[in-house]
Amino acid sequence: MKKIILTGDRPTGQLHIGHLFGSLLKRVELQEEYDTHIMVADVQALTDNFNNPQKVRDNAFEVVLDNLAVGVDPNKSTIFIQSMIPEIAELTVFYSNLVTVSRLQRNPTVKEEIKQKKELFKDSVTFGFLGYPVSQAADITVFGADLVPVGEDQLPMIEQTREIVKKFNSIYGDILKEPEALIGSIGRVKGLDGNSKMGKSLNNAIYLADEPEVIEQKVKKALTDIKKIKIDDKGNPDDCMVYYYHQMFSKNNLENIKNECQSGTRGCVQCKKELSENIIKYLEPIREKRKYYQDRPELVREIVKDGTKRARIKASEILKKVKKGMRIDYF
Ligand code: ATP
Ligand code: MG
Repeated sequence: MKKIILTGDRPTGQLHIGHLFGSLLKRVELQEEYDTHIMVADVQALTDNFNNPQKVRDNAFEVVLDNLAVGVDPNKSTIFIQSMIPEIAELTVFYSNLVTVSRLQRNPTVKEEIKQKKELFKDSVTFGFLGYPVSQAADITVFGADLVPVGEDQLPMIEQTREIVKKFNSIYGDILKEPEALIGSIGRVKGLDGNSKMGKSLNNAIYLADEPEVIEQKVKKALTDIKKIKIDDKGNPDDCMVYYYHQMFSKNNLENIKNECQSGTRGCVQCKKELSENIIKYLEPIREKRKYYQDRPELVREIVKDGTKRARIKASEILKKVKKGMRIDYF
């Protein structure tokens, strides 16, 4: 029996190089060995976009394109839509008895995100948003996932899932599996502006679908060492977002870049040009594959429809066991 993976993306925008190194490359690698499930988390996206359903609908297609573009293979991985698996919603209701409000309020990621979403939630957060870690526990356990490849910001969610599983099993019998998180090659990719997270909604991202000219423009505006003004000023690569991305995209020339910057023999303009060229080259096959699928919306629809059908069959198997354990398997 292959081990099981559950991972996914919220359809709140296109995916970027933060997702690529934080999560996408890992799932592509693991799909060879694991029974991989990739969820378009539309129900979760609605928790903070309930007033903008069209945005979520449009981006559902976009995140599927991004996954296919980076090499997720629909013959190896199951791509599905969260809202089309009602078993997840059922489990969420059952699990909500097993977690306290104060525990959810203490979840560091939820806490941080509520702060960021002040405008939406004003002085009181919705029941749905506060409870999204519970729904995430349902996403993971409804497929019996062993492993959850995620970015670092998701670690508290996996911890919360493990707590729910333990509590569930202690009351209703040994039915659910405790999942493990798996962090990508870079736990948290920083934004072009130096922000600690490149984010879909933070205007600091290079998207997988960005055209070469757009990438060039974005790199030109990236934050560099503010003390290096003239070309021959000595720079500090650790204070420079351009060097930060060189570490991902210019591995074969890295020492050289660092030395030249530190000794004042490399100007930022040239350094940025080199970086955007490397990013463009790296993303080219991804962009091409994305276009292939973008031009074939019917094919993409079939891939997701088929994946959702398969996912639902698996989910209903676990739900049967859960209901039996909870003594609500009436007839
Ligand atoms: P949102 O702001 O809507 O939450 P997001 O950019 O956080 O969007 P998600 O769809 O929530 O994206 O996350 C998908 C996966 O990508 C998660 O595993 C998350 O941890 C990871 N991820 C997101 N941003 C980064 C980043 N900057 N670096 C590394 N991993 C990331
Ligand atoms: Mg997120």
